[in-house]
Amino acid sequence: MNIEEIIISQRAFFSTNQTKDVNFRLKQLKKIKKLLKDNEDLIYKAIYDDFRKSKFETYLSELSLVYHEINTLIKNLKKWSKPKSVYTGLTNFPAKSYIIPEPLGNTLVIGAWNYPYQLSLMPAITALAAGNTVILKPSELPKNSSKAMAKIINENFNSNYFCVIEGGINETTQLLEHRFDKIFFTGSTNVGKIIYQAAAKHLAPVTLELGGKSPTFVLADANLKMTAKRMVWAKFLNAGQTCVAPDYVLVEKSIEKEFLDVLKNEIEKQYSQENQDNYLQIINTKNFERLNNLIDTTKVFCGGKSNKEERYISPTILQNVSFNDPIMQDEIFGPILPVIPFSELDTAITMVKGKPKPLSCYIYSKNRKKIKKILNEISFGGGAINDSVMHLTNSNLPFGGVGLSGVGNYHGKDGFSTFSHYKSILDKPFWLEFNLKYAPYTKLKMKIMSWLIE
Ligand code: NAD
Repeated sequence: MNIEEIIISQRAFFSTNQTKDVNFRLKQLKKIKKLLKDNEDLIYKAIYDDFRKSKFETYLSELSLVYHEINTLIKNLKKWSKPKSVYTGLTNFPAKSYIIPEPLGNTLVIGAWNYPYQLSLMPAITALAAGNTVILKPSELPKNSSKAMAKIINENFNSNYFCVIEGGINETTQLLEHRFDKIFFTGSTNVGKIIYQAAAKHLAPVTLELGGKSPTFVLADANLKMTAKRMVWAKFLNAGQTCVAPDYVLVEKSIEKEFLDVLKNEIEKQYSQENQDNYLQIINTKNFERLNNLIDTTKVFCGGKSNKEERYISPTILQNVSFNDPIMQDEIFGPILPVIPFSELDTAITMVKGKPKPLSCYIYSKNRKKIKKILNEISFGGGAINDSVMHLTNSNLPFGGVGLSGVGNYHGKDGFSTFSHYKSILDKPFWLEFNLKYAPYTKLKMKIMSWLIE
């Protein structure tokens, strides 16, 4: 079937109402979980071939999150799908009011390359849980991962319900010519704008999970050893190719030297020679070259080694970086961490506020007053205090950006809501009706009405 035929078949299948049955949806979620379990080895191999990523890290950063999301959806689906009663008020007495969650219809999910399973499957599975059909277009860059995903899904689901369409710009452009009831996109801000414009032609609602430069504040009172341990893990996971990775560090000048030393020690501990299997390749030569060019050798504090053939860049810390440096212009999306010292917290906050609203922000400190100040003054998608990245593992926290880092959010109940329409119903019996609102309008009716309302 070609793209158009698949879309037409999904519309026809959605209108049979089969996806509206919660038991049908639960069955599909359990089926997906089993398929992923049965195909784990295929997935581990595909991801290794694309990224040279270890089994451990694939489980940690891809499969465990997908399993957790499926379990959350299975556990809560009946509750979230039920109509919810709300207060009616006197105006409509004796009516009842309730909200019915309903699926939006036919959805398109477009994935990014950096976590090919988690970033594509979590929204796709959530869309199915909410009763939609899904066309999933994973990123074309990790080609083995995309191929394995297409095999797992397309050999086991009817394409009129859930279908993976592989491809790049061409295929996405073709898909975007059609009307969808929802488009969920994960990727760069620039492509996000293309998606938004294409969706606007059909007034299709969108969720855009984008990127940006996520700052990390390290204040003088922070536990530096623990800060370095958590930050090094979060930054160099996936070789820094993580949308919520700490992009740059703002450290109080008084502890800059000590902090750089503990960072270096921690990198040596986590990524020493013997542990090379823990560390990934850069996705392709284009990104390798882009990153390599960002390493200003005069500012390297540690790391800075690279190997083009292996697409390897060692965990790198840059010091004495300023906001005008090339590395501070765009999201880094690789294993380079610039450290910028500051003397006044207000100045650091102003610098961050001068940039687009970030996807994430992290604050390492025990000083609740200063933490509150940063939280109050800087707008960002989400983040963590004394940790990095881990906020996205809590499905009670909506995950998404703000401003140029994204539109909308998902995970857990928020994901279910993202793929649902909440239909509002006022439900009135016939046995009673007040005449107040009906003509002829009189002064007395006006008086009673204003008394009731005000
Ligand atoms: P990308 O925007 O290049 O590609 C994303 C998807 O869009 C891919 O499926 C690709 O095939 C498609 N695409 C690319 N160009 C297109 C075009 N011109 N027209 C239509 N479709 C097109 O992003 P990427 O390189 O895969 O991912 C990196 C970016 O994604 C980073 O900015 C990162 O921060 C962001 N990201 C965000 C999140 C999040 O959850 N917020 C997660 C991962 C990555």
